[in-house]
Amino acid sequence: MAARDRYSRKLECAQCGHAGFADVSEDDDPRRKTRGFEIDALPRGFETEFASNNPRKHVIRCQCGHKFKFEQTTTYAPSGEPRR
Ligand SMILES: [Zn+2]
Repeated sequence: MAARDRYSRKLECAQCGHAGFADVSEDDDPRRKTRGFEIDALPRGFETEFASNNPRKHVIRCQCGHKFKFEQTTTYAPSGEPRR
């Protein structure tokens, strides 16, 4: 049985600099077509604009109105990022 992979990821608005950590979980099973991406908790000031199970399509809206995708084109390990 595959476990849910939970991690935190820093969100940072490129427009106003507002930042915080979101709690995220994914299915840790490479056989699945999707990663089962889900945001469990968003930091203050950020909201979900468009929810998706693909972090490259999940859109976050900042309190300043700036919208950006949860996962941008930065390096991102397939199984998530190491906990810090
Ligand atoms: Zn902002």
